[in-house]
Amino acid sequence: MLFHYIKETRLYVKEQKKLGKSIGLVPTMGYLHQGHLSLIKKAKAENDVVVVSVFINPIQFGPNDDFEKYPRDLQRDYNLALDAGADLLFNPSLEEMYPEKSRSFVLVQELTDNLCGASRPGHFQGVTTVVSKLFNIIPADRAYFGMKDAQQVAVITQMVKDLNFDIEIVPCPIIREKDGLALSSRNVYLNNKERQSALLLSQSLGKAEELIKQGERTAEIIVDSITSFLEKDPNCNIDYVEIVDFHTLKDLKILKNKVLIALAVKIGKTRLLDNIVMEVE
Ligand code: AMP
Repeated sequence: MLFHYIKETRLYVKEQKKLGKSIGLVPTMGYLHQGHLSLIKKAKAENDVVVVSVFINPIQFGPNDDFEKYPRDLQRDYNLALDAGADLLFNPSLEEMYPEKSRSFVLVQELTDNLCGASRPGHFQGVTTVVSKLFNIIPADRAYFGMKDAQQVAVITQMVKDLNFDIEIVPCPIIREKDGLALSSRNVYLNNKERQSALLLSQSLGKAEELIKQGERTAEIIVDSITSFLEKDPNCNIDYVEIVDFHTLKDLKILKNKVLIALAVKIGKTRLLDNIVMEVE
């Protein structure tokens, strides 16, 4: 099924709940790939009914971001989502989600100060606001988010705790191409040469992992190694390379416990993310 309106979506979810069915929600911006589909499949395995939302949320894009040219293909998304196990695709229009100027926003502090929060001011406020709206429209039992956007998972998990949303946040592993490139809707922007450069992201994280396995624990040394690896390619324009505590997202000097090594790199005009999580003794 494909719904464009909040009213019919609410009604459907209410009816399913009345029948005792559990609901899994997978929020996306569409142009679905195997990363999204892995979330939908997991949601289907753990819930009776799966709702996938496809909405390109303008308030999480900055003025120079790619809101206008973000890739769109609803028919393809619909077929892929249903094949992967979705029962309903919710695709509201801009007017349906934001019928008038919003005066209410959801803000998660501290966890949004660094990483993507620092380079994209307002981004996470846009994300937490739209995810709150989706949680209110579709009061699911569980919602599925990819670790490709690790900071987003941390921020939304905190929001759900702080604001008592009755919904379980389920983090899902990053799905990659065979050559290591993390799947992203934005990968379609890359030409052949840029796609080659994009491989350096996962490769640099692989190098970092090696260093840590060999016993390196100083964040600066690991960050320098990633940075110099990426800088060898003039197509790679580093936005950030950071090593943070997985739970607090605070910058680390010495690696300890569960750490998140995250980077954002611009290849040409395309900003790509990648990360790894490691348990360090
Ligand atoms: P997006 O459509 O980019 O907003 O992504 C929707 C959801 O899919 C988010 O929870 C993302 O973290 C997740 N996602 C995107 N790419 C991947 C990937 N390569 N592996 C796993 N999850 C992903």
